Amino acid sequence: MSRGEVAVQRARRSFQTGKTKPLGFRLQQLKNLLRFLTERKKDIAAAVKQDMGKSELGTELFETLGLEAEIRLALEKLAEWAAPRPVEKNLLTVSDEVYIQPEPLGLVLIIGAWNYPWAITLQPLVGAIAAGNAAVIKPSEVSLHSAKVMEELLPLYLDKDLYPVVTGGVAETQELLSLRFDHIFYTGSSTVGKLVMESAARHLTPVTLELGGKSPCYIDKDCDIPVACRRITWGKFVNCGQTCIAPDYILCEASIQSRVIEEITKNIKEFYTDNPKTFEDYGRIINKQHFRRVMALMEGGEVAVGGESDESECYIAPTVLKDVTGESKVMKEEIFGPVLPIITVSGVDEAIQFINEREKPLVVYVFSNKNKLIKHLMAETSSGGFLANDCLVHFTVSALPFGGVGNSGMGSYHGRHTFDQLSHLRCLIKQLKMERVNAMRYPPHTARKMGW
Ligand code: NAD
Repeated sequence: MSRGEVAVQRARRSFQTGKTKPLGFRLQQLKNLLRFLTERKKDIAAAVKQDMGKSELGTELFETLGLEAEIRLALEKLAEWAAPRPVEKNLLTVSDEVYIQPEPLGLVLIIGAWNYPWAITLQPLVGAIAAGNAAVIKPSEVSLHSAKVMEELLPLYLDKDLYPVVTGGVAETQELLSLRFDHIFYTGSSTVGKLVMESAARHLTPVTLELGGKSPCYIDKDCDIPVACRRITWGKFVNCGQTCIAPDYILCEASIQSRVIEEITKNIKEFYTDNPKTFEDYGRIINKQHFRRVMALMEGGEVAVGGESDESECYIAPTVLKDVTGESKVMKEEIFGPVLPIITVSGVDEAIQFINEREKPLVVYVFSNKNKLIKHLMAETSSGGFLANDCLVHFTVSALPFGGVGNSGMGSYHGRHTFDQLSHLRCLIKQLKMERVNAMRYPPHTARKMGW
């Protein structure tokens, strides 16, 4: 039997013992996960540094802090989330117990992506543990060092049978996908998302697909352009643009394009110095393959800022492309790198049309002082999330369901939403009394019996 098969078999058997049912057990595992993140901070940061050149503080800010907050929330709220939830009754059930009882689904497969290898892989695990499931964790092979550290160290803290880490590449992921799970939680590209769903269909396994896409960012000419550009510069170039919810491209009127470029240039210098290549907080593209992919997307584009690169280090400078058209190469796929194209439009309605001619994105961003314009853009477009006047921060609000729609994914998570996503919601308990009131529903349905 392969490693994957052994892990799946052990996790399922262990789940079947009922070990995960008591909330006390789940709380203990969550505390262990929190302890893992605290005690192994240095190992995690070193792995991420090797994977993508990120600083220790950057890893703490963008990987572990959010995870810790999610675990603390689950520790505080688990009893409430797992408790029966009474619902409104109807005439037929007036004297019965009608409530929703969340119960574990069983064995969950979590497939992570490489761009935030810890946050993306372990955040669904928080909900999986809280909901009482077993989970096979498959970190991305692309963030190799993080995957190795996860495989070595996580079993020292969590129940080894219930939460195994299975490493490996595409072949290993495909092998796992051929096995039976009770839910698959996948984060990655839309292309692979379709393959995951195909495999899941063979076992009628439900899926959560956290995918990507091209998230547009409309800048209204009447907004505070310096503040808007500062927030956009941060949201775009953090993690070298390798963020699923990074603004992929800007839409704005031609009259403000040069101001936008000027402001973003100023911010790049302020955030990453005149030479981002030697600046500690500016990371690298994950590998040569992705480096070449991003470089190829820039071909034929007019560089307004940046454009420098060094293949030997997988370095691409924060770059802005101007006067880009919808037909250009860079607009054909999610950029997932530090390249920001600007497309000029005549106003918000053309921006809406441009967005709606494409796949539904993970986020629609808008910067404007006009509430009416913001609401208009929200009403006329569809996307996983919608954020006005800032970037990325909706990801940090545990109360908001985070996820895509259409090509950017299905299902959502964070906080209680992860708990619900990885639970099955059931039940209705009837009494055996008051049988007389049921008389009408049993045949024969005569007019006399019905009182007609
Ligand atoms: P990746 O290459 O690490 O792939 C993700 C996972 O899919 C890995 O675990 C890998 O083993 C598996 N995989 C790859 N090819 C496969 C195949 N042919 N069959 C089965 N499994 C396979 O990551 P990626 O896809 O390059 O990730 C980047 C994408 O993920 C971007 O589109 C980004 O927007 C998206 N993303 C989305 C979110 C979100 O929360 N919505 C978060 C992060 C990344």
